[in-house]
Amino acid sequence: MTENTNKSGLPANLQLDTLAVRMGLPPSQYGENSEALFLTSGYVQSSAESSARRFAGEEEGYTYGRGGNPTVTSFEMRLAALEGTEAAISTSSGMSAIMLMLFSLLKAGDHVVFSQSMFGSTIKLIGSEFARFGVESTMVPQTDLAAWKAAIKSNTKILFAETPTNPLTEVCDIAALADMAHNAGALFALDNCFATPALQRPALMGADIIMHSGTKYLDGQGRVMAGALCASAAMVREKFLPVMKNSGMILSPFNAWVILKGMETLGIRMEAQSKRALEVALWLEKHPAVARVYYPSLPSHPQHALAMKQMSGQGGAVLSFDVKASNAAQARERAFHVLDGMQVLSLCTNLGDTKSLLTHPASTSHGKLSEEQRQLAGIGQGMIRVAVGLEAPVDIQNDLAIGLNSIQ
Ligand SMILES: *Cc1c(COP(=O)(O)O)cnc(C)c1O
Repeated sequence: MTENTNKSGLPANLQLDTLAVRMGLPPSQYGENSEALFLTSGYVQSSAESSARRFAGEEEGYTYGRGGNPTVTSFEMRLAALEGTEAAISTSSGMSAIMLMLFSLLKAGDHVVFSQSMFGSTIKLIGSEFARFGVESTMVPQTDLAAWKAAIKSNTKILFAETPTNPLTEVCDIAALADMAHNAGALFALDNCFATPALQRPALMGADIIMHSGTKYLDGQGRVMAGALCASAAMVREKFLPVMKNSGMILSPFNAWVILKGMETLGIRMEAQSKRALEVALWLEKHPAVARVYYPSLPSHPQHALAMKQMSGQGGAVLSFDVKASNAAQARERAFHVLDGMQVLSLCTNLGDTKSLLTHPASTSHGKLSEEQRQLAGIGQGMIRVAVGLEAPVDIQNDLAIGLNSIQ
């Protein structure tokens, strides 16, 4: 866990791009310019007195790897600086960050309101696992503010959303939901995986907790798993840190080190990948074999204006589209035909890579839903999700065209 005090020695008021490259602990006595990787599980204490103070929480310093690590600290400092929060705490994956948040803030009898369009494992974790421990929850349509409001009860502790969502790129109003939560005495938590702080800084719009899967765009190169929560120093210190230490979901220093490097190019990657995604989305919209494209930068997107305001005018790197078909079986066959025709892009259930990754949500991430639930979620058999990477847009288009052109 790291509080965003001035441990870095950097001047105040640096811009996001600068913080992404520079924020972290100062170098060790060796003056390394690239952040060091500290692979150690224990820390030698200078005296028994100092060791006692550290264990009592009266002195800063590392004691044991489950409680902290300097490379992990640098990652947390960098992420908190980018998100504009006082502190951050990192975990072994995005899901363990959500686990840490819920476990730290809820008890039996509490209630959570969350979007029905959230990440599949998030829905399972809240709706099934936490339900076994007496935590109540209500799922609401992501973009329907009235439904969020109507779902709030006297025991509601957290409103939890994700924007844009996977795979439909639905956008919710962060400031409005934060206000609604605060008026009800609840916290507003936001999964900021898709936009990242390079495009969207929810803390500046009132969100109390910003959750990340570092596995996605923070690393950005498809190498390691990581997660994090960004919040006030008091919340991180008093709520999250004790649970993190006792439950052992700490981020590995190696993964923190990989992501520290990844974050140095976050701004330029998000800009370049958003630009490519828009180009591909515009091309897909004109293709005769495509029925519909979902991407926040397209004027046809239902929350286009809100998205552009909230996401620094960019749409992010994920888009989805439906192939044209006259029934569900034909739609599935055609979507599979497009995916199996690719010669360059990857059929891979991940996102946030420099390589473009494609998936068929109806048979993978949303494969366990009943046909009725899937219809409700708006995910048809003809839908393909594209997490656009850094390849030349024309090559991405040509690869998709192999399948698309032969189903007209
Ligand atoms: C991947 C993802 C998660 C989960 O993160 P992991 O690192 O895979 O545990 C949560 N939310 C969103 C939006 C994601 O894309």
